[in-house]
Amino acid sequence: LFSELDDIPLDPHYALKEDFSADTSPSKVILGSGIYRDKDGKPWVLPTVVEAEEIVKASEDSGRYDYLPIPGYAPFYTAARDLLFGALSSPEENFVSVQTISGTGANSLGAHFLSNALKPSAVWLSNPSWVNHANIWKSVGVAVRSYPYWNPERKALDFEDMIQTLTLETTPGDVIVLHGCAHNPTGLDPTKDQWKMIANVCERRELFPFFDCAYTQELTRDNSQGFASGNLDEDAWALRHFAFRGSMELAVAQSFSKNMGLYGERVGALHLLTGSPDAAGKVKGHILRLQRGLISQPPKRGATIAATILKDTTLFQKWLADLCEMSSRIKCMRQALYDELISLGTPGNWDHILTQIGMFSYTGLSPEQVSSMRNDGHVYILSSGRISVSGLNNANVKHVARAIDKACRK
Ligand code: PMP
Repeated sequence: LFSELDDIPLDPHYALKEDFSADTSPSKVILGSGIYRDKDGKPWVLPTVVEAEEIVKASEDSGRYDYLPIPGYAPFYTAARDLLFGALSSPEENFVSVQTISGTGANSLGAHFLSNALKPSAVWLSNPSWVNHANIWKSVGVAVRSYPYWNPERKALDFEDMIQTLTLETTPGDVIVLHGCAHNPTGLDPTKDQWKMIANVCERRELFPFFDCAYTQELTRDNSQGFASGNLDEDAWALRHFAFRGSMELAVAQSFSKNMGLYGERVGALHLLTGSPDAAGKVKGHILRLQRGLISQPPKRGATIAATILKDTTLFQKWLADLCEMSSRIKCMRQALYDELISLGTPGNWDHILTQIGMFSYTGLSPEQVSSMRNDGHVYILSSGRISVSGLNNANVKHVARAIDKACRK
C-alpha cells in the first residue's frame, strides 16, 4: 500500500542535528535551530519561569491533570491576546483567541480554518520564510506562492519587488503570511513606513493578513530604573497598525517558545480579529470544532506558567529583564562575530550581521560555502546560510569566524 509513496527527506533542521551528532570532532559547533543557549552553550531556564513554576506548584490540587476546556486556559489566552493587541483589545467581542500547541499549532490551526473559511486561491509567503510555513499550508491543500523579501546582492529587503508582486500577482481573498517581528530566517524587518505600505496593499488587494509572532526584538536594559525598558509594544507595532486601521480582519499565531524559553511545553495561541461580535461567534464555532478534531484540548502546564508571568506585574517586569539578558547576549555575539571577521579581513561586507535583528543572521553564505564550513571547520549551519546567533559564545566565536573566513577564500 505505501510503497508507492514519495520519499520525503528529513526536515533540514533535524538532518543538520543528526549530522552534527555523528561528527566526533571536539571543535564541532552547531548554529542551527532558534533555541537560546547561554554563554556556556547550555539551555537556559528563565529565572522568572522558575519562580512561576513554584507559584503554580503551590496552587495545584488534585485537578492538576484534568483536561482544559477546548479553547484552552482562559487566563493564558486572554493575557496573551492583551500582550499582542494592548489597549486595542477592545471591543473584546470582536476577538477570538484559543490556546494552541505553540506557534506551530497556531499556524496550523489558522491554516486549517482560513483554507476552509476563505478558500483562498493561494497563500503568499516571504521568500525565504520559516520552512514549516510551506509545509503547513500545503498540508491543507492551499497553493503556496512566494513574494520577494530578501535581496541576496544587497543583503537587504527587496521591498519594491515585494510590493509589486503583491500588487500585480495576488487574487482578492488570498492569505498573506507576515512575520510580526524579527523575521525568520533573515532577521530583516520592514520599517514602519514600509509596514504602512504593505497594509495599503493588503487593504487594496483584499488580502487576508496572517501574522506569525514567534520572536521578540532586542530589548535594552534601562539601568536607571533597574528593569527592562525595552518595548514589547514595538514587537507588536506592525500587527497593531493593521488592526488599528479597522478595515481588515486578521489572524495572529503567537508562540511563547523563544520569549519564555518554554520550547518543549508547547505554549502558543491563535487570535482572530473579526469585523463584528456576530462574525466572532461564528469564527469561534468553526475554530473550536477544528481544535476538537485536531487535538481536543491543549496541554495545561506551560499555559499556567505563562499566564502566571503575564498576569503578575512583578513577574512581568522580571520577565522583561530575562528577555534583556537573552537579547543583550545575542547582540554581543553579533558584534563579536563581526569583529572577528573584520580582524581576519574576511572578503565581503559583514555589516548585515550587526543590523539584522532577533536570533538569526542570514549571512549570505552560499550552499557551497556552508558545506565547506562543515567539512573543514566542523561548523554546522543550514544550507540557506542562516546562523542562530544564540549558539555562539566566547569559546566558539573565533572558530566559527575562521571557518567562515576559510570558506569565503575558496
Ligand atoms: N513561526 C516561526 C517563524 C518560527 O521560526 C517558529 C519556530 N522556529 C515557529 C513559528 C514555531 O515555533 P513553536 O512551535 O516552537 O512555537
